[in-house]
Order: sequence, then C-alpha cells, then structure tokens
Amino acid sequence: MRKYVIMGVQGSGKGTQSDMLAADLDLVHISVGDIFRWNVTNHTKMGAQVQRVMAAGELVGDDLVESVVQRRLAEHDWNFGFVIDGFPRNARQAEFFLESYDIDGVIHLDLPDSEVRRRVLSRRLCAECGMDYNLIADSPHVPGRCDSCGGELVRRQDDTEQALAVRLREYHEKTNPVLDLFRRKEYVITVDARPSKEAVQLQIRSRLGLPVAPAAPAAPAAPAFAEGHGGH
Ligand code: AMP
Repeated sequence: MRKYVIMGVQGSGKGTQSDMLAADLDLVHISVGDIFRWNVTNHTKMGAQVQRVMAAGELVGDDLVESVVQRRLAEHDWNFGFVIDGFPRNARQAEFFLESYDIDGVIHLDLPDSEVRRRVLSRRLCAECGMDYNLIADSPHVPGRCDSCGGELVRRQDDTEQALAVRLREYHEKTNPVLDLFRRKEYVITVDARPSKEAVQLQIRSRLGLPVAPAAPAAPAAPAFAEGHGGH
C-alpha cells in the first residue's frame, strides 16, 4: 500500500504526474479540485456552493474540503494506495489528514512563479472527459478538440490573470507552511517540474525508489542531418 501527497504551485503538473504514477502502480488519483469541478459542471448543490469561490481563486472552506476528502477516502477503492493532489492546502487540513492517515511520501513539484503564469494561461481542459492540455508543450492534434474524445477544449474558470494572482498568494501564504511541516517530518522529495513530463516522472520514481515505467518502443532512428535542427 502506497499513500502519497503531491504538492506544487498551480500549473506545476500535479494532475499529470499523479495520473502517470497512478496508472502504472494501480493507485487511485484523488484530486479535490476535480471533485469540485465535477460538482460545478453537473450543477449539484455542492457545485453551487463552491463555484464562486473557485472562480475567484480562493480556497473552499475547510469543513467542506475535509468532508469531501473523508467521503472519498471512505470509498476504499484504493487497495494499492492513492496519490492525493490539491490537499492538504493549509495547516488545519494537514493536521486533519495526519490524524487519520499515515503517508509514505510527499512529492513536491518545484516550479518558479515566472513559469507558472506561462503554463497556466496556456492550459486547456476537455469539457467532456477532463483531460488536460497545454497549448505550448502538449497541444491537441486538432486545434480546440480533445485527442481522446473529441470534446471541446476550454479554459478553466480560474485560469485567469486575476484568479491566478490570488491562487499564488494563497499557495505561498497557506500551503508553503504545510510543505515546511512535511519537510520537518522528512516526508518530502522535491523535484524540478520544468523538464518534460516523462523526465519529471522518472525523477519522482527514482527519488521514491519506485519501479520505472516500461520504456516506450524505440523511435525510428532520426536521419543524421536532423540533429540540432529543432523539431519536437
Ligand atoms: P486545483 O484543481 O487543485 O487547483 O483546485 C481548484 C480549486 O478548488 C482551488 O483553487 C480551490 O478553490 C478549490 N480547492 C481544491 N482543493 C482545495 C483544498 N484542499 N482546500 C480548499 N480549496 C480547495
């Protein structure tokens, strides 16, 4: 059983890295933000409660967040463990979490604020299946359409300049102290989030002593003249 927390500023790739880790190690990826977004999209009572707060980039109240996490973890569909993303985000949530669960490690994706803005403002989400895209590094084959289901790609409501400024402030004020607390407990591995998603994943696995994903089939050898001429 493996229980991980993944932390990092907006756009540091928490969702992507959690998905990669979870798919390969049979872990359940729990994203509190995804749960809230699902509720907003499906017009539930909870969705109505959190919609405005989320759009402004503020944090949802602790009582609601804790009950969402508690209910999600109580489903016990995580026989091999979980990666929880977007939680805990402040001291109270961390205390609540540590009272109920032991954790095997905290993955901290480190990204400078200067890079955050560029990434977040170019992020798109499939309105149908929720898959994440980045128009710089990960653009879809057909512009504006999801590669996987053909759904429309939209901007997250909180991926705006104003909401991003609030979210970054919240992160530095409230979430950094949580990271410090976890560091004191020696749970944290910090990984540079700037390289490609595959390179970041490799770093995470080697730092946590986890098996490395099976290598992708080798690409056909590039013609000698291609070297140094750009490309992907
Ligand atoms: P995320 O997808 O993790 O960036 O979360 C999107 C939004 O959901 C955040 O900006 C908050 O409004 C809300 N949210 C997600 N997780 C939490 C949390 N642990 N505490 C408070 N609000 C949260």
